[in-house]
Amino acid sequence: MIRKFFKTFFLIELFKGMGLTWKVLFTPKVTLRYPEEKTPLSNRFRALHALRRYPNGEERCIGCKLCESVCPALAITIDVHERDDGTRRTTRYDIDLTKCIFCGFCEEACPVDAIVETSIHEYHGEEQGDLYFTKEMLLAIGDKYKSIIAKEKQADHIYR
Ligand code: SF4
Ligand code: SF4
Repeated sequence: MIRKFFKTFFLIELFKGMGLTWKVLFTPKVTLRYPEEKTPLSNRFRALHALRRYPNGEERCIGCKLCESVCPALAITIDVHERDDGTRRTTRYDIDLTKCIFCGFCEEACPVDAIVETSIHEYHGEEQGDLYFTKEMLLAIGDKYKSIIAKEKQADHIYR
């Protein structure tokens, strides 16, 4: 009780706090002015998904459904169609990003590097269903960020 009284009477906690303030006042700042300033991201950062194509424009995805079966969140839904030449392609490839936990298993499982997770994390949805990505949307992301994705995968390949 006496100890507490003297601590309160002499404003010990206040001086300790001010001491800390003075100590960090002249040290380099660790806070950033986001979004103008950003922290560096790892090449392995996992965010928005994309479906990739081969350089000739053909979809990489062969509809093997490995990503769908490995997904722990049941976020991927795939329908497959066999073409006249015997190759398989998806007629539906949906990812519900409200279910996705960004574990990266889909990307790891894919034998042809079709589904990938990009480092694009600045996206949002305003309405219910906005984060339900269809095949067309995923291919469009893959097309738009083709060079960024290729660069990230190249930097990451030594770990795979
Ligand atoms: S990152 Fe994980 S949870 Fe998200 S779709 Fe891929 S496998 Fe499913
Ligand atoms: S994205 Fe890859 S793992 Fe998923 S169905 Fe297509 S080829 Fe198979």
